[in-house]
Amino acid sequence: MTDKKTVTYESAKLFVDKERESGVVKETFSDYISRKKILPNNSIHHVTSPGAIRTANHRERLKKWWKSKQWKEYVRVHTTNQTCKECGCASGQVKGDRKPATLTINHLYRELYNTFEDYLKFAADKTEVTCTTCNWMFEKGMNVCPVCKDEKTAKYKHWNQPMCNTCFKKAHPEIQEAIDKKKADAKALKKKLMDDQKARVKEYKLSHKKAVKNNGVLGNGGWT
Ligand SMILES: [Zn+2]
Ligand SMILES: [Zn+2]
Repeated sequence: MTDKKTVTYESAKLFVDKERESGVVKETFSDYISRKKILPNNSIHHVTSPGAIRTANHRERLKKWWKSKQWKEYVRVHTTNQTCKECGCASGQVKGDRKPATLTINHLYRELYNTFEDYLKFAADKTEVTCTTCNWMFEKGMNVCPVCKDEKTAKYKHWNQPMCNTCFKKAHPEIQEAIDKKKADAKALKKKLMDDQKARVKEYKLSHKKAVKNNGVLGNGGWT
């Protein structure tokens, strides 16, 4: 189904380009596809940047590698009886509300992605055994907080931070106090503004009533 759409969309583009070039058709491509009710697909032809194409190609290549027997065997050999270098999980171990850990090989350097042979090279200083969660977080620049890490906990922090946010707040109670004070001050200020406004409205109503009474007129706002 998707393939059919792709072909239709692409061939429609070729068709319109050709027709417009030869001057037969004045209609634009977008007018043409909306008239013919051709749905655009997510193909590279009009929406995807070169960077995104490279990323997509890279992911496609990785998927192929991960499906291969060599990769599965490589992971099995190097992760047997090992634990995650980051969070310390053994295969199947559960920390916090995470899924049971699955061990894999984390590639620390980009050049290991150049070829499948490089990808399968195991070197103590270039690869490490991690669980799939730590591997994923590594790609995002995060690693495990060393302060609260224990048998049941593995929280993540940015790689150049000394500890996770929770541990940081615990270590610096004055920061949490300042945050709480700021919140309380803002709440008090909001209440004061509301009370002032209420008082102004009340005062206006009273003075208005008084003015109407003094003028002896009711219900026409003081016009006589
Ligand atoms: Zn881990
Ligand atoms: Zn922590």
